Amino acid sequence: MEVHVQPKTRTKMFCGCAVAPLNAPPNTYVCEICLGLPGTLPVANKAAVEACLKTALALNCEIPRHTKFDRKNYMYPDLPKGYQISQYDLPMSVSGHVEVATRKVRIRRVHLEEDTGKLVHAGDKLHKAWESYVDLNRAGVPLMEIVSEPDLRSADEARDYATELRTLLRAIGASEAEMEKGQMRVEPNISIRRAASDELGVKTELKNINSFRALHRAILFEVERQTQVLESGGRVVQETRGWSEAEQRTFSQRSKEFAEDYRYFPEPDLPPLEVERTWIDELRRNLPELPSVRRARLLDHLPAAQVAVIGADRELADLYENAVARGAPALPTANWIVNEVAPTGKLSPPENLAELMKLLHDGAITRDSAREVYVESVETGRTPAEIVAEHGYAQVSDESELRVLAEAVIDANPKAAADYRNGKKQAMQALMADLRKRAPHANPKVANELLLKLLA
Ligand SMILES: [Zn+2]
Repeated sequence: MEVHVQPKTRTKMFCGCAVAPLNAPPNTYVCEICLGLPGTLPVANKAAVEACLKTALALNCEIPRHTKFDRKNYMYPDLPKGYQISQYDLPMSVSGHVEVATRKVRIRRVHLEEDTGKLVHAGDKLHKAWESYVDLNRAGVPLMEIVSEPDLRSADEARDYATELRTLLRAIGASEAEMEKGQMRVEPNISIRRAASDELGVKTELKNINSFRALHRAILFEVERQTQVLESGGRVVQETRGWSEAEQRTFSQRSKEFAEDYRYFPEPDLPPLEVERTWIDELRRNLPELPSVRRARLLDHLPAAQVAVIGADRELADLYENAVARGAPALPTANWIVNEVAPTGKLSPPENLAELMKLLHDGAITRDSAREVYVESVETGRTPAEIVAEHGYAQVSDESELRVLAEAVIDANPKAAADYRNGKKQAMQALMADLRKRAPHANPKVANELLLKLLA
């Protein structure tokens, strides 16, 4: 798998241009350096180098003392210089590994390079386009390329690997790694082989993959396609294939080029980079806790299903641990985050969540009220206790008060009550529904017990 990741930097890789926001007008974040005008000189972005080193450390890579940039030469309209500055034989880091589910995936290298511009084809597709435009806002934006060894064995593993990389990159603050924003691009290389054979088959490389779902589907499709080619007596051709989201299939883009086609040579305008050991040591010391370590800690007191959700996202895991540290009950809080926070992305400050969880856990409010209080608390920043007091959400658990209510419900629903008495247990649902409509803040557990007692 080859994964390109945009490190979190303010500026481009070799010039002072800011990294353009997604919707910036074309060619407004450019300068003479990223436009490749003659007589300009690139300077390496320290923040990008740092993000790359942190990523390398988190992936257990070796960081050689000497590294350098190289020119990768090719012609394309989105490449104004006629070459891309990348790293060839002395990458920033080599020989790492990352644990994904039950497999240890070896990392071949993590290196730095610059992005190209973007072609915009009027008419959507190149072969139908009557005009094409070039937008160089992205030209020169830093990219890290993470290359794994051929250790992944299925579409599932490839998706898990990509997800783990995203979690890890976010956890260490190296990248936002949002696929939809083009900050992370995954290119799987796929080959198949006969069972019991050690030899890898001819591979194809897939591009244009915009989501984890697309990654999974594209691999399944490509495995099936290659199988059919071989079984019908054909040969798999080494090539780059695009994924068509609309047609849910891969299509041939171009035959694969080889390294020698790019006429790599050391970038003469940038001195070789010598990475100081003291800098590496400092980065290693300050590296935040890795997701795998955190997951192991969460698994000590939470079930695997909750850890799968909470452990995959640094913000959710921070919210959980900080709320529990402020006295929130562990499992109910984990469930709340999985069911109410993860799907909506609405994050409350941990102290507010802790307060809410305690109110819910002590029976002071109902679950339905808690949902409303949570949303309002996130939107207004006010504390749950304030909101509960203001709206009168406080849960009614008083038995004499609830008994009057339960009697009224039974009177108003004679058929359901009779059905229940005649053994149709599901009639209780209608009675409870009516009770909740009349008194949204009634403690459902106490009310249910009263109904059962009255109907017995
Ligand atoms: Zn520039």
